Amino acid sequence: MSVLIVGTIALDTVETPFGKKEAILGGSAVHASVASSFFAGTSLVGPVGADFPSEHEEFLKNRKIDLSGIQRLPGKTFRWSGYYEFDMNQAHTRNTELNVLTEFMPKLSPELRKSPFVFLANLDPEIQLKVIDQLESPKLIAADTMDFWIRGKRDALHEVIKKVDYILMNEGEARMFMETPNIPLAARRLLELGAKAVIVKQGEHGALLFTDDTHFSAPSYPQDAFRDPTGAGDSFAGGFIGYLAKTDDLSQGNIRRSIIMGSVMASFNIEDFSLDRMKRLKAHEIGDRFDEFRKFSQFEALSIEHWV
Ligand code: AMP
Repeated sequence: MSVLIVGTIALDTVETPFGKKEAILGGSAVHASVASSFFAGTSLVGPVGADFPSEHEEFLKNRKIDLSGIQRLPGKTFRWSGYYEFDMNQAHTRNTELNVLTEFMPKLSPELRKSPFVFLANLDPEIQLKVIDQLESPKLIAADTMDFWIRGKRDALHEVIKKVDYILMNEGEARMFMETPNIPLAARRLLELGAKAVIVKQGEHGALLFTDDTHFSAPSYPQDAFRDPTGAGDSFAGGFIGYLAKTDDLSQGNIRRSIIMGSVMASFNIEDFSLDRMKRLKAHEIGDRFDEFRKFSQFEALSIEHWV
């Protein structure tokens, strides 16, 4: 089954304790689409300006990502600039230049409207709502957001949450949006708003899934080759939805597997700046790392003899 991903296509300037890179390929939809493309046919919808380098489009085409939904608009591509200190779980935004994003109004082709699996990557929630309105009977919609939109478009974000199956937030954003330091409580409040499931991303500490009747905790990966966390959340989402689409199985067991696959893809993305690690990634490495995740999070049931 195919995946539709709508979000930003960006030129990022990123500084981490491991270096600074200017105007590199980024954007929520780019990171998510590249991760998803390892598993399923993926269509990317988002705006670019006249300054968007053609080499980036070539890379996305080489990953067999469908770019028919890219809107080329006069003006400059969306730009984000940020930095991370030693706590690389926390991105600090220096500057957000919306540029062509202010003119972007997605109009899905008849084919894309039929997409079964949809990821609304981090984007203005009013635009996310416009995409939802165009979809014809999707199997699953997941949406992501960030503090920028929580501060600026709270009401529209409420509407998005009512209409999607999965809402993804990182833990700081979930606390901020639901106004509580308690993550399970924040997740419960998000479920009460109408989401069917909530995924709280905890950066290098893993991810949590909450539904009305289940809870799952995906482990963190002991990553020693950690250079740039930008796009980790989007790669997580892309891996998650891409694997779900490939398997077309929404059972609890497969949803958990897909969450681990999301964690696997995020763990690769943070090994280098921009999409550089994803450009070198091989399918067998994905399988090997999935097995590593399985091994280090397995443990035996309590033994009565040892207990008493
Ligand atoms: P994350 O997975 O949260 O690290 O996402 C990082 C990506 O989000 C970067 O490549 C940015 O270009 C993009 N981004 C930053 N700010 C925004 C925003 N306000 N809306 C949409 N995308 C953004």
